[in-house]
Amino acid sequence: MTEELFREDSYLRDCDATVVATDGNALTFDRTVFYPLGGGQPGDTGTLSRDGQSAAVVDTRYGDDGSIVHHLEEGAAIPSVGDTVHVELDWDRRYRHMRMHTAMHLLGSVLQYGVTGGNISAEKSRLDFDMEESVDKEAVGAALKALVDANHSVSCRWISEEELDAQPDLVRTMSVQPPRGKGSIRLLEIEGVDLQPCGGTHLNSTAEVGAIRIGKVEKKGKRNRRVNIHLDD
Ligand SMILES: [Zn+2]
Repeated sequence: MTEELFREDSYLRDCDATVVATDGNALTFDRTVFYPLGGGQPGDTGTLSRDGQSAAVVDTRYGDDGSIVHHLEEGAAIPSVGDTVHVELDWDRRYRHMRMHTAMHLLGSVLQYGVTGGNISAEKSRLDFDMEESVDKEAVGAALKALVDANHSVSCRWISEEELDAQPDLVRTMSVQPPRGKGSIRLLEIEGVDLQPCGGTHLNSTAEVGAIRIGKVEKKGKRNRRVNIHLDD
């Protein structure tokens, strides 16, 4: 299994790694800072370098065995198993994902309805809510801005299912119920705002979300409102 360095520190931009498997343009390393597509957040992109040569990493996905697979651009020279490489994120893109992802948690705390879907990108993100009411864009935008300005701290921690069972209040507080059966659960906490299981990459504080704007609100069915948000820089 790949050591997932981004789980403990989402601000890591690069690392050295050893190639443990190759399959065409798809490479697996012993460790990585690249986040694989999942939870509505895109896979990271960036650069792989070795011996003064570099190639673009165009996507990152989970492999069938749960390891993290880095896809190199067509025509790239492929390193061999055992080689040491250096990988570096397209940090501007990833940091926008972190801002968007953290903003999504804030949006979910402002609109306290069930979330039925969502998607994050560097340009635009959306959450789908199970709700019939119309959305007051101005009020939601103001509430989001207040949460950003209040600079709440954001942190992750791992908890075992036994610890969780011993603290039923914690589960009641969560906006989304944790998945069971994997032994440990990763919780994302925005202090005083949101607590839920989440595996994505987040900021350390809400102020870093910066300027965000509510975009279109789309009616996707009787009980579905899709709320789009944009980063304003
Ligand atoms: Zn999250």
